[in-house]
Amino acid sequence: LYYNQVLELKGNIRVFCRCRPLSAAEISMGAASIVEFDSTRDNELVICSNGAKKTFKFDRVFSPSNGQSDVFSDTAPVVVSVLDGYNVCIFAYGQTGTGKTYTMEGNVNDRGVNYRTLEELFQLTEKRKGQYAYTISVSVLEVYNEQIRDLLAQPLPPGQCARKLEIKQVTEGVHHVPGLTEATVQCIEEVWDVLQTGSRARAIGSTNANEHSSRSHCMLCVMVKGESLLTAECTRSKLWLVDLAGSERVAKTDVQGERLKEAQNINKSLSALGDVIHALATKSSHVPYRNSKLTHLLQDSLGGESKTLMFVQISPSELDAGETICSLNFASRVR
Ligand code: ADP
Ligand code: MG
Repeated sequence: LYYNQVLELKGNIRVFCRCRPLSAAEISMGAASIVEFDSTRDNELVICSNGAKKTFKFDRVFSPSNGQSDVFSDTAPVVVSVLDGYNVCIFAYGQTGTGKTYTMEGNVNDRGVNYRTLEELFQLTEKRKGQYAYTISVSVLEVYNEQIRDLLAQPLPPGQCARKLEIKQVTEGVHHVPGLTEATVQCIEEVWDVLQTGSRARAIGSTNANEHSSRSHCMLCVMVKGESLLTAECTRSKLWLVDLAGSERVAKTDVQGERLKEAQNINKSLSALGDVIHALATKSSHVPYRNSKLTHLLQDSLGGESKTLMFVQISPSELDAGETICSLNFASRVR
């Protein structure tokens, strides 16, 4: 209840900032941390760089000592909204290496938001079993160079090319990607299998899976259909969980060819995302969803009645100061 009250007061966009710990490599290099957390000032952080101090305030600030369950306990309320028929979008933004994938995917011992969200959804549907019948299905896709790739698609016979996937508007506020695989999932074990299939597909065809994943947006779409057993009324909602491409700026002089094209496409889509959220936050009459595949895909879950949660991920290291400040400024602009 508290969460929804806060949302009503502040609009439907919330920003959480998460700072990862210094890595072993950074510690061995003697890199200092430039991020300060003051336990008496909730949800603020101070960046101390070049002798100057700058304070940033967010809806929630997670320090390196906060673990996956701390993060999820503040994320969970939004999951309830999905079962109530709201569209939701949760995404992680930040420079490569700041923990976007850790926050969203996590690992087997420390699962992230994606897995925990679905686990929560299944637990809630179980609790409401007497009143509602829910069907949950998922799609896993990637946007790379402004092209959509279905990560759950069956492998094609050699020589055959995948059909180009496009976004179609079905009705007002409902967008769909014809041909995209939707896997119906009955329990959390099935979800884990689907997520694994998605990650394996992501790595195929790329020489360096890590590098590739930092240059594409990885998107998990959870579709929930609910039917009231009492009134036969139906709700349909969509939850997007997005691990964005790295936001680091690439100097044009450093890259050429394919790498330059990638960098330009990432830049284009991240700016488009910033513009859309800024337009929503400032209640602008025009929201430019169509400027990138990313924002076009997310359209139903950004704005209107939907709820948006952005994680801005940062590194504490002095070596990353420039990118950290850029990310914090990006996140401050959308509020
Ligand atoms: P990104 O997806 O933004 O490129 P990763 O999620 O791959 O970053 O994180 C980079 C490294 O830092 C990984 O080894 C990851 O396990 C580690 N890491 C990130 N965030 C945390 C955290 N909050 N606590 C512990 N380790 C973290
Ligand atoms: Mg990553």
